[in-house]
Formats: sequence, structure tokens, C-alpha cells
Amino acid sequence: MNAVSRQIGDFQVTALSDGNMSASLDLLSGITTTDAGEIQRRAGVAEPGNLHIYGYLIRGRGRTMLVDSGTGGANNVGGQLSANLQALGVAPQAVDTLLLTHAHPDHIGGLLDEAGKAVYPNAQLYLHPLEVAFWQDDGLLAQASERAQRNFARARRTLAIYGERVRLLDDKPIVEGIQPVPLPGHTPGHTGFRIDTPQASLIIWGDIVHFPYIQTAHPEVSIAFDINPEQAKASRKRILAQAAQEKLLVAGMHFGGSGFARVMPEGQGYRIVYSEA
Ligand SMILES: [Zn+2]
Ligand SMILES: [Zn+2]
Repeated sequence: MNAVSRQIGDFQVTALSDGNMSASLDLLSGITTTDAGEIQRRAGVAEPGNLHIYGYLIRGRGRTMLVDSGTGGANNVGGQLSANLQALGVAPQAVDTLLLTHAHPDHIGGLLDEAGKAVYPNAQLYLHPLEVAFWQDDGLLAQASERAQRNFARARRTLAIYGERVRLLDDKPIVEGIQPVPLPGHTPGHTGFRIDTPQASLIIWGDIVHFPYIQTAHPEVSIAFDINPEQAKASRKRILAQAAQEKLLVAGMHFGGSGFARVMPEGQGYRIVYSEA
């Protein structure tokens, strides 16, 4: 595949495809499946129920950073990210920093190999303290569905294996020019990463949208994966307004197209336009 890159000042940001996972428009609330399907059809989406999965590689100022890691291939879904990374000539050992938007399995699945070992043996792993607290909460685990319990187990196993290399995000930049942006709701510690340089800016906003055309046009639409739908909606509205106002380049883990887009006001919501490859 042809990985698309954007130069953001000193940083080169590359969208790494992990493949697709099947979802369903039924997972959305706040819109009928007919209306949701119509938006997909008008946007030219061939498989309206598919979600694409991206991770992003950031290289520059001597650093090699990976934002999210794809599924790792669990249940024969996705799992192409590490091969696409190596196709760029980046060995897993060369990744010095892992930035996690949150700890859902399609974002952290690629951090451990099938034997349960760290895929990125030299990387510091950054995530929000509220994300760690959530997945480590025994009370929440006890109430969780069987499927959610597997997600808890995976998050805990991953944090345990990365051990002393786990770092908690705060309001300080990770490196000069790269700042975490809390976007809670999808998960409690859901976080975007914003790159600001004198030449250009970019925000990698994680799972602010799962169906990009639908949820930019209708920011009030949430998906069953949102742990706190009201908070997720507030974060989505806030960051969409900011991105439109600043004409900010945006990257998202469930974008299609090149993996990079801009949003502009349209009607009661926004229109997303993928930038050219
Ligand atoms: Zn998620
Ligand atoms: Zn996701």
C-alpha cells in the first residue's frame, strides 16, 4: 500500500493502515440506519458498515513515535500496521515513543505479539492517567460484559508487559511541539495529540468519529463503543468547532481516504474532506 505522509514543520506524519473491521450502522444512536446509510451512499462509501483502522507514525527531531498500534490481528481483523511500518523501513526496535489515544483493542492490540511479548521493546508508552485508572478498576471489571472483560484483560496485560516504560500524560508537551489534548467520553482518558510548528499544525484525534461522514454531519450521533456518550458528544462538538475554525488538518483512527482531512461548517454540522494522497 502507499502510505500517505504530511510534513508538519520538522515532523513527518505518516498514516499507517491496519486494515478494516466490520461494524454496523446499527451501533449508532441519534440517527436512523436509513439516514446513516444515505449519508454513506452519498459520500460514495462502498461498504457502509466497514470501519477502517489507522495508526500514525511521527518522525522528526531524532524521534520515532507511533500513535496507536492497530489490532495486532486478533480475530483476523486488521493487523497490517506493523508490516506497513516495516515497509517504510522502520523496525519495531526503532520506535522510541508510543502515544495511545485510548486502550480499546483496535488501538493497543498491536503492542503485544502472539507470545505476549512487547512488539516495541524500546518505546516509552504514554497514555492518560484516567485511562489507566479505568482499565485497572476492579469494580468496573466485575460489572463488565464478557466482551468488555476481554478488553479489560488485554489492557491490563499490555500495561503489565510495558511495565516501567508506561508513562502518564499530563499537560506538558511530549516533545517540543507535540501536546496531548484530553477528549474524554469515548473512554475516560481518550486523548488527541496536537502538533504545532511554525509551518503547520495537525491534530490526531483518535476515535472522535467512527463513521466520519455521518458523525461530522451529525456530531450528536454516538456509537455503542462510547463509554460516556454525552461526554463524547461534548468533546466531539468542541474539537470539530475548533478544527473548523482553525482550518486545522485532522487525522483520525477510523478515517478513510488518505487518513488526513479538514472539516468545514455545513448545515447543523460539518463536512469532512479527505486531503489528496
Ligand atoms: Zn475506541
Ligand atoms: Zn477505535
